[in-house]
Amino acid sequence: MENVIIIGGGTAGLAAAVYAARAQLEPVILKGDTPGGQITLTDALENYPGFPDGISGFELFQTMERHAERFGAKLVAETVVSVDFSKEPLLVNTHDNMYKSKTVIIATGSDPRKLKVPGEKEFIGKGVSYCATCDGFFFKDKNVVVVGGGDSAIDEGLFLTRFASTVTVVHRRDRLRANPFLQKRAFSNEKMKFVWDSVVTRIDGENGVENIKLRNVKTDKESTLETDGVFIFIGHIPNTGIFKGHVDMDENNIILTDRRQRTNIEGVFAAGDVQDPIYRQAITSAGTAAIAAMEAEKYVASLEGKSYPGK
Ligand code: NAP
Repeated sequence: MENVIIIGGGTAGLAAAVYAARAQLEPVILKGDTPGGQITLTDALENYPGFPDGISGFELFQTMERHAERFGAKLVAETVVSVDFSKEPLLVNTHDNMYKSKTVIIATGSDPRKLKVPGEKEFIGKGVSYCATCDGFFFKDKNVVVVGGGDSAIDEGLFLTRFASTVTVVHRRDRLRANPFLQKRAFSNEKMKFVWDSVVTRIDGENGVENIKLRNVKTDKESTLETDGVFIFIGHIPNTGIFKGHVDMDENNIILTDRRQRTNIEGVFAAGDVQDPIYRQAITSAGTAAIAAMEAEKYVASLEGKSYPGK
């Protein structure tokens, strides 16, 4: 029987692990096959307090893992396939093991939303990307397209101007959603170009991306835009599939929590992107995770003396 199982090894999972470990809960972190989460895709984090010169996402992730382990957190490279929160103890199943726990902190993060157009899947790794930090380097002196109009699209688009000759932002409306500071930088960068009111309808090429088809949503006019790469930043989908029917979620499958990070199930908490459709920052993920771990500690303490079936 564990005190706390933390599902997910990204920013939220590791921050929860540090707090839970320091509270002597000996947390087990089921970090999956590709731990680190979204933060490892970020080139330089310049808004995480304590790093005035910035830090790479991967370096911060490694530091957080070391930090959690230093206080006795157990990091396990297993992927959770199902849960059962219908009775005590809470059950968490991986391919290899069944874990029983008094509390669970869900910190499984989110994945990039897909355009779902012909060619997108086929050209992943051959010109289609969801990560400028990972793939920007391959587009030195090339022309690329960025799809989306939010902070991610503009932030990543600006990053791509370090490599590409042109970065054309294709957005489905006639104004950006991104914050004014990013917009100002984008509009004053001569490598950035904009195609408004347009959606990508397909991605074409031979061995790699060569062009995309666009449809203007106001005029219905179709056009072709030549490009060497397509970077897609149209939001994220929370990784909450395995929790469906086990905890309450909203219509976008975001887990519902109260201000103490409690879900509707006693002993089950959620932190980071799985419960946050708005802020999705490393610092807010870490903050909600710290709350979840402190609440888990309180909950475990409240169970003192309780006996569980089979124990
Ligand atoms: P977002 O704010 O949800 O923006 C998604 C963008 O993609 C929107 O412009 C949206 O268009 C467009 N879009 C959505 N579905 C689409 C589709 N099927 N086809 C075409 N376009 C589509 O997502 P995000 O940019 O990833 O940002 C998420 C959160 O992270 C935000 O809170 C943001 O502030 C934060 N963030 C902050 C920073 C930073 O501060 N530097 C950097 C990255 C992210 P509409 O505008 O028409 O809805």
